[in-house]
Amino acid sequence: MKFQSTRNKDLRLDSAETIIRGLSDDGGLFVPVEVPVLEKGELSELAKLSYCERAKRIFSKYMTDFSEDELLECAEKAYTERFNGDTPAPMVKLGENVYMLELWHGPTCAFKDMALQILPHFLVKSAEKAGDGKKTVILTATSGDTGKAALEGFCNVSGTEIIVFYPKDGVSKIQQLQMQTQSGENVCVCGVIGNFDDTQTAVKTIFTDEKIREKLSENGKRFSSANSINVGRLLPQIVYYISAYADLIESEEISEGDVVNVTVPTGNFGNILAAYYAKMMGVPFGKLICASNANNVLTDFLSTGVYSVNRKFYMTESPSMDILVSSNLERLIFELCEKDDGYVKSVMQSLREHGEYSVPDEMLNKIKEHFSAGFTDDEGAEKRIKWLFDKYSYLCDTHTAVAVEVYEKYREATGDNTKTIIASTASPYKFPRAVLKSISGRSLDDDFDAAKEIENISGLSMPKQLRELSEKEPRFTGFCNREDMADFVLSTVGGES
Ligand SMILES: *Cc1c(COP(=O)(O)O)cnc(C)c1O
Repeated sequence: MKFQSTRNKDLRLDSAETIIRGLSDDGGLFVPVEVPVLEKGELSELAKLSYCERAKRIFSKYMTDFSEDELLECAEKAYTERFNGDTPAPMVKLGENVYMLELWHGPTCAFKDMALQILPHFLVKSAEKAGDGKKTVILTATSGDTGKAALEGFCNVSGTEIIVFYPKDGVSKIQQLQMQTQSGENVCVCGVIGNFDDTQTAVKTIFTDEKIREKLSENGKRFSSANSINVGRLLPQIVYYISAYADLIESEEISEGDVVNVTVPTGNFGNILAAYYAKMMGVPFGKLICASNANNVLTDFLSTGVYSVNRKFYMTESPSMDILVSSNLERLIFELCEKDDGYVKSVMQSLREHGEYSVPDEMLNKIKEHFSAGFTDDEGAEKRIKWLFDKYSYLCDTHTAVAVEVYEKYREATGDNTKTIIASTASPYKFPRAVLKSISGRSLDDDFDAAKEIENISGLSMPKQLRELSEKEPRFTGFCNREDMADFVLSTVGGES
């Protein structure tokens, strides 16, 4: 199995090299040259296995340069001790047809742990295979949840360093505190004055800057990315969708072959793209319902074929979805245009130069075959949190609420009552002020006071890893301008390893 760039399909690399590089030098994203297809009956076989065994089986279809033992070892290191509960991604049934796939039982209480707990182990093994002894420097821009999840994943992993930039005004207090208090000798965190897109764009520029790369190379280091563009993050996300389907077989909610829809609260298009890959592998997923907040650029694109960032940017109560440039969409476009790398390049150039592009009707029709899209504002999400809590005593966070709201609207509009998996992407305690306001109408200024109040009302206790934050001393309290990020990176990693 090889991976190719969406902007140069003749570049073909094995998975280790792909994971080390993160982003292709031509600016493209790596995708599998051929998507492996599950055999008939395989989902039922997977249903009998543990999460780690399932992961090993699925990874081995893509990562043929790794042994099965290596893959199992990576999965066990990632998913055994650091997740609460028996399985890293449990499902909770609500009513007749809805299954909440809870992806937030890891160390940072958000779904990004699912990929970022395993990526460092993939990377260390990949570097061993590359055999040039270079140290990996992880450079990442975060809308909040990624940064902390990456920091936890890479903390004290030998042979790696990590630098995280986050938009100063684009993360919650808890998210900021989670990053500022990060432990570890090989970690560094800096706030950026600007929004997520500014931060991500600057990181991409640094990433491809020849001078900075040379400097790193001289010092025996190289960049890699923990952003959701890395194949090493995409693959673990495919696993939990396949595993969720297998769980539904195992618990006799469905039989192999039954169609299930999937609803995903979406920002960078990484999580929902993984569901699409699972579908391409043969998992009988029906509609993939893409849920956005007020930054509804994807709702427009998936329903009209026009992608335009020339619009107002909103800061919402679901900040990890406050994104206008959804990087992973490039992979979908590549898959849907018969892998025409020239076409992908032209589309991305148009996005860079004009802030927009449109795709032909033929592609839009294909998109509509697989995807449905909707959005809601903060008020819609807030009401839905209360509705869920009153109806099912189920508490969800603000991102997940966007998905539930969009799903309910979809069901009402279409009458489609197909069983649905809804990706639940964060613990409600990660965004406690908004959640408290939803269920009680009360506005408190402090995240921790709000969390205590939610505990009183719901009886659900705050995860330990969040509760402990209020006692930790912040280590990384600095901020910089967008223009200073490159210098910051050089001064942090410019030295010899
Ligand atoms: C990152 C994130 C999302 C969006 O996921 P994408 O892969 O960027 O689409 C949704 N919810 C939460 C809580 C997140 O952290």
